[in-house]
Amino acid sequence: MELTLEELNKTIMEMRTKGRLTEALNLAEQGLLVALENDNYKHGLDLFYQKILIHHALGDTLSMVSHIYDYEACCQQYGTTKDFMNYYLVMSLIYDLVGVREKTVEMTKKSIEYATQLKDIKMLVRCHSNLCYLEVENGCYKEALEAALIARKYNHMLAKSLPELAKLQDIRINNNLADVYILEGDFAMGQALLDHTLNSDIIENHNREKVAALFGYGFLYEHQQQLEEAVAYYKQAIALAQSYGDNQIAKKVMRMLLNVLYQLDYRDEIFDVQRAYIELTEKMSADNLLQQVMNLEFNRQKEKLEKRALYDPLTGVLNRHFLDVELHDWLKDARTYQQFVGVIVLDIDYFKAYNDRYGHLFGDMVLQLLATGIRDFIRNQEAVIVRYGGDEFIVCLRHHTKQFIYDFIKALHGYLLTLKLEQQNDSYPLKISLGACVNDLHNYEYLQLFKQADRNLYKAKNNGRANFVISSL
Ligand code: GH3
Ligand code: MG
Repeated sequence: MELTLEELNKTIMEMRTKGRLTEALNLAEQGLLVALENDNYKHGLDLFYQKILIHHALGDTLSMVSHIYDYEACCQQYGTTKDFMNYYLVMSLIYDLVGVREKTVEMTKKSIEYATQLKDIKMLVRCHSNLCYLEVENGCYKEALEAALIARKYNHMLAKSLPELAKLQDIRINNNLADVYILEGDFAMGQALLDHTLNSDIIENHNREKVAALFGYGFLYEHQQQLEEAVAYYKQAIALAQSYGDNQIAKKVMRMLLNVLYQLDYRDEIFDVQRAYIELTEKMSADNLLQQVMNLEFNRQKEKLEKRALYDPLTGVLNRHFLDVELHDWLKDARTYQQFVGVIVLDIDYFKAYNDRYGHLFGDMVLQLLATGIRDFIRNQEAVIVRYGGDEFIVCLRHHTKQFIYDFIKALHGYLLTLKLEQQNDSYPLKISLGACVNDLHNYEYLQLFKQADRNLYKAKNNGRANFVISSL
């Protein structure tokens, strides 16, 4: 049986590489049952890992998350270094999908640590390619380029033993690298990399990678101000993602599409896409993925008796402990780069009434809706979100221009007022008050900024709520 399970694992790997995902999933599930029945944890863990990766490739985040606890427990009990390496990769993918970026980077680096120890070329390619994408998200293009070049170097080595897989990885690296070139203004290079992806003879078997290249083109055209073309590519990417049920990517691209439609001022289309976006968000929030992942994290931390976790388990944003330990460095960076800083205090209006009328669980959902809303809106900014306590959140945002911070805060408030909790055919719109204070380029004292922002919040409340007040130091 040893041999059969080992061969089975190899076959599944080959099927995944060829994009035969449904067949691969069936085999992995059957093999896993056999392995566990026979207490063969060595191969069982490999099969488990593959099963989770197939769910990822199929865009089925819910299944990934629902298996992670068992997989982790199995790794804890029977895992070797290789299994921990695999486990951290899977966790990095999950954190990425629910949008906890710091954790995504942390998990990727752990996986790289193990992969380096084991000289696992396959994993080194995958993790460095992922790291490239994460550095792009962080705005660190130099580091992104370095990571991609390392991924390429390992991929040349991989091509000797697993040429098919190396071809697929090549596409993934190029897709990530294209973003770096586009953001640096080298459009020709960005386009060449994306052309390479779409002209590849294996691309039709790999939906996820094809979607990435399509919205890569959208991104390319958007940056060249060819907005009509950008719209066309974003739409193609969304249609393909939806055709195989990848809601996470569809949602991400819809946000990019909306951004371009706003610039074009296509009102009717904005309305349609917004509606589709809200429908999708509602469908996805019923799964409550972020909460599930945070519960995992919470249980894990309880088990390890880790003191003072940095994240709020209910909403997944930072908790106030961040203000004491890490905000200092964040502000120091802002000063070093001579950026303006805005401190924003947000508070739900009459939140207590939700609890009193509909119960605390309902109140919890309102808090999650707000946290997700803030997170979605500030996604690409240099900003942190902290749950200060109860129904109060703090956002710290930095940027090179003061006007941007002012405009952004107004837009954030406007957006938050569009959020609604949909429950059993009823709709509960959120009302939020906001106070903010923006610094000059000399004063980076958090307390002063916070006090002023807090005073502004009370002014907003006194002005009748669902309001905002911003001032400068
Ligand atoms: P205002 O418009 O002045 O902001 O009024 P409010 O009702 O929003 O503010 P208040 O400070 O009176 O109420 C906040 C409530 O938040 C009180 C507390 O019971 C509740 N709360 C604090 N933490 C949580 C939580 O984690 N979940 C839930 N459901 N409620 C919480
Ligand atoms: Mg309140």
